Amino acid sequence: MQRITILGATGSIGVSTLDVLARHPERYSVYALSAHSRVDELAAQCVRFRPARAVVGDADAAARLRALLRAAGVRTEVEHGERALCAIASAAETDTVMAAIVGAAGLAPTLAAARAGKKVLLANKEALVMSGQLFMDAVRESGAVLLPIDSEHNAIFQCLPQGYGRAPAAAGVTKILLTASGGPFLKRDVATLDGVTPDEACAHPKWVMGRKISVDSATMMNKGLEVIEAHWLFGTPAEQIEVVIHPQSVIHSMVSYSDGSVLAELGNPDMRTPIAHALAYPERIASGVAQLDLTQVGTLQFERPDFERFPCLALAFDALKAGGTAPALLNAANEAAVAAFLDTRIGFRDIARVIARVMDELPHGAAASIEAVMAQDALARAAAGRVIDAIAARAAGGNFSGANTQ
Ligand code: NAD
Ligand code: MG
Repeated sequence: MQRITILGATGSIGVSTLDVLARHPERYSVYALSAHSRVDELAAQCVRFRPARAVVGDADAAARLRALLRAAGVRTEVEHGERALCAIASAAETDTVMAAIVGAAGLAPTLAAARAGKKVLLANKEALVMSGQLFMDAVRESGAVLLPIDSEHNAIFQCLPQGYGRAPAAAGVTKILLTASGGPFLKRDVATLDGVTPDEACAHPKWVMGRKISVDSATMMNKGLEVIEAHWLFGTPAEQIEVVIHPQSVIHSMVSYSDGSVLAELGNPDMRTPIAHALAYPERIASGVAQLDLTQVGTLQFERPDFERFPCLALAFDALKAGGTAPALLNAANEAAVAAFLDTRIGFRDIARVIARVMDELPHGAAASIEAVMAQDALARAAAGRVIDAIAARAAGGNFSGANTQ
């Protein structure tokens, strides 16, 4: 019986994880669940899955959850805050941690799971983008098992040979081909992108996801973060990671070998497949996802990404090449800019402008410790806040679309 902690249980990945677990009650039990503010949803999950512990964002949310659980006769222990998240991620009573909090907020508990030597199912790509080498060192030192949930990285993991660790070149790997759907704005006239709304940006053609990652998919920053994620997970240099647009999202990524072979993993676009793969690895279990019918799909298309249309992708490659804390700066500026876009304070194309400006303004340093990374994260958020305020002020003055930050 594997005992599971889900960090971010009420999110898109968290809900899909519980769906897979519920199909296999003889294999899995739920040890702990966390949510930030969706107390009602978390209470319903506690009633159904009876975890020993549940963690929410603050004391108010904890009081509300306790009241709901008491009324339902459920004896889950309720805590709140980051220390409690780290505790449920590293407790002796849990074997496997699904890291599915969105953004930098997930770094501390995900790292706590890695340091405690857990089986870590990594959906929270931002944590790895921020802490790169430090995170991978923690995994190696503790003997944790790190399995990627991001569909592309899960596909690559399945297409890489076993036993080579993070030395893909030794296995004859010449390239990782990271597929991208291109998001909702792949074909839209670039000149109209300044006027798109958060709902339009979140209307992903192939995947149903949380709002932050949906906006990241529309800007293709998601693919940029995934390039950095692939670098750390698989030890592949930036030059050997290629992004390929594949609008059908049937091929989830590919690996090229020196003999000319290209291996791909295919399936219907449903996150329950990589979740089930990682939960059961190295075995296979049913996920609830329908079998792929290629005759229904008919055609698979591929094209190169347009870096002018998607400047965030270029910014991410630059940050990976710059190294050190540059990816942490990129990630923090992006989180701040996406939140401002979702709040309709800045336009869609301002997201890339904010990030570029922060990357220009702030020198990156060595990612020597998690504290150094978190300090850079805070500096980047503050700098992004100033750029966002300037854009929003100019927009209030009547020049919203195409606001130039210079
Ligand atoms: P979501 O917004 O649906 O859910 C986020 C979860 O994190 C929620 O449970 C929320 O309560 C929790 N959370 C939010 N802010 C928090 C905070 N400050 N402190 C603690 N908890 C907080 O997001 P999602 O789409 O499920 O994505 C989760 C992670 O998985 C992201 O890092 C995303 O990039 C990654 N991911 C998602 C998908 C997908 O299909 N949804 C695919 C690949 C990777
Ligand atoms: Mg992905």
